Amino acid sequence: MADCYDYKECMPVEERERRHSLQIMEMLKAGYQKSSRIRKMFTELKMDHSEIKTLSDFEKLPVISRGKLIEFEMSEPPYGELNNRDADVDRIFISPGPVYEPHLSENDNLWARAYYAAGIGKGDVVLNAFSYHMVAAGLTFHGGLRHIGATVIPSGTSSSQLQVQLIRDLSVTAYTGTPSFLMIIINKAEEMGYDFKKDFRMRRACFAAEPLAPSLRDKFEREYAIDTYQMYGATEVGDVSFECKKKKGWHICEEVLLEIIDPATGKRVPTGTLGEVVVTRFNNIFFLFRFGTGDLSRVIESPCTCGRTSFRLDGIAGRVGDAVKVRGLFIAPSQLNMIKEKFNNMRFQLLVSRTSHEDILTVKLEPKEAGINTVSLEEKFREHFKDVCTIRIDRLEFLNPGTLRDDDNLIVDQREWK
Ligand SMILES: [Zn+2]
Repeated sequence: MADCYDYKECMPVEERERRHSLQIMEMLKAGYQKSSRIRKMFTELKMDHSEIKTLSDFEKLPVISRGKLIEFEMSEPPYGELNNRDADVDRIFISPGPVYEPHLSENDNLWARAYYAAGIGKGDVVLNAFSYHMVAAGLTFHGGLRHIGATVIPSGTSSSQLQVQLIRDLSVTAYTGTPSFLMIIINKAEEMGYDFKKDFRMRRACFAAEPLAPSLRDKFEREYAIDTYQMYGATEVGDVSFECKKKKGWHICEEVLLEIIDPATGKRVPTGTLGEVVVTRFNNIFFLFRFGTGDLSRVIESPCTCGRTSFRLDGIAGRVGDAVKVRGLFIAPSQLNMIKEKFNNMRFQLLVSRTSHEDILTVKLEPKEAGINTVSLEEKFREHFKDVCTIRIDRLEFLNPGTLRDDDNLIVDQREWK
């Protein structure tokens, strides 16, 4: 067996699907009995909860966005009647909105899988720089670290100077928090005269709540010898996915059902295409089915060489609202930036237009230097574009140098919806 947190991470894919179907049905049954909102939802759908028998039946339920959740909670405070009215809630977290979240105490291994996969465990002293004030982050990350036997310093949002002092005095071996704050702490340590790599023992960092730029990751790993890991979750649903040592996508946690959907229809998109991340956390306290995160991603189904059999999220490509949909597929700004990095000797711009009810994708390419072989360039560009965006370019035009500017939009949507 691979080095996993538990058996579930390596179970056959079919077994996971079977378990998930059962868990969803159990949660629907409990929700129907204990939450008036869930009963109302089924009445509106003119369905009985027992009619949901498979994961594809589950698509019939509406997606609940953060905005919708706030609406529910405002009309029926504090939890929008999505909670189990008989549950023993040990704490209530607050996030902007405001959204009130009863703590899911039965899932107190939140984030433990992620820390385990990053190689953290007994003997580690971890600086937890997530806020402990009102929000779920600090305490839930703390709980995950304790679950795998690490010692935690609840430093939260203390000043960078104090964080440096703690790293030094308590021989901190790992950090958890945002990448930008770790960089601030390192800069502060250097300003205080320390050599971060030589003077301190910090060798691992697990990040969440903020994207990790590849250049920053490289800096942490090369200059400071800190092995970095990304974790992904949401306050409303807890931990969702995490990186293993292979760092090729984020494994989906065993306690959640993750769907990638088309926000326009609420239905799942074909495997490998970009869509909105929708999460349901199996639990008996808060019946938040199909929570729409607003994040864009796609799922990798092929097995990971680490031995875990769970599917992986291919990072986060951006927010649904920032992406443009062409022929039913999302193109996210982050994908275009990846292309821009690869073809750094040219400028380009995408135009989306519509002819006879069909989307047309035109790319304008402007090489920065003259004399480039346009035939091979076009071929390479088309191929790379298809790999990254999974969509075909209809027309490709070359522009004369000086036509586009660096601050021009990478994508221009010219469609008119009449
Ligand atoms: Zn893996």
